[in-house]
Amino acid sequence: MNDHIRKILFTEQQISQRISELASTITADFNASGAAPAVVAVATGAFLFVADLVRKIHLPITVDFIRAESYGSGTVSNGQPLVSFGLKLDVRGKHVILVEDIVDTGNTLSCLIDYMKTNGASSVSVCALLDKPARRKVHFQVVGEGKFYRGFECPDEFVVGYGLDFAEQYRNLPYIGVLKPEIYK
Ligand code: 5GP
Repeated sequence: MNDHIRKILFTEQQISQRISELASTITADFNASGAAPAVVAVATGAFLFVADLVRKIHLPITVDFIRAESYGSGTVSNGQPLVSFGLKLDVRGKHVILVEDIVDTGNTLSCLIDYMKTNGASSVSVCALLDKPARRKVHFQVVGEGKFYRGFECPDEFVVGYGLDFAEQYRNLPYIGVLKPEIYK
C-alpha cells in the first residue's frame, strides 16, 4: 500500500497533535456553554477521526453515525448526496457536532446540516479533519451557536488514508497522503 503513495501530507503524529487541539477547543467551548453535545460522525470516512477525537473530548457526549453518499469509486463527486443511513439517536433539541473526514464541494455537509435542522437539532457544529476550500461549491452554514472546527487545510489533490479511501482501499493507512496518479487512472 505504501508504495502507492506519492507523498505524505499529514503524518500520524501531526494528525494526533491536531486532534488533541481540536478536542481541547471543543471541550472548552461546550464546557463554557454548558451543553452536552451529540457527536454524529459521517461514515465511513470519519471512523478513525471520530474514534480518536471523542477519546480526547472530556464531556458527557453521545456518538452516532450517519451516511450520505455521493461518490462512486472515482475521485470526483458525482452529484447531490443522499442520506442513505440515518440516525439511531434523536437529535431533537440537541447540540450536534457533525464529524467529517474532508469538506470538498460542501454538498455532503450542506445536506447533512439540513437533515439535522429538519430533525430538530438546536445547534449544528462541524468538525472536519481536512478542508479543501479551493473546491468549495456550496457554502454550508453552521446552525445556531454552532462553530466550524477545522483540522488542516488540504491542497486540491485526491488524498487517502486515516479513514479516506480510493475504491474502499487505503482507509487503514495511519497517515494522509496523495495517491500516485497511475493508481486511479
Ligand atoms: P463533498 O460533498 O464536500 O464534495 O465531499 C465530501 C466527501 O467526498 C468526503 O466525505 C469524502 O468521502 C469525499 N472526498 C472528497 N475529497 C476527497 C479526497 O481527496 N479523498 C477522498 N478519499 N475522499 C474525498
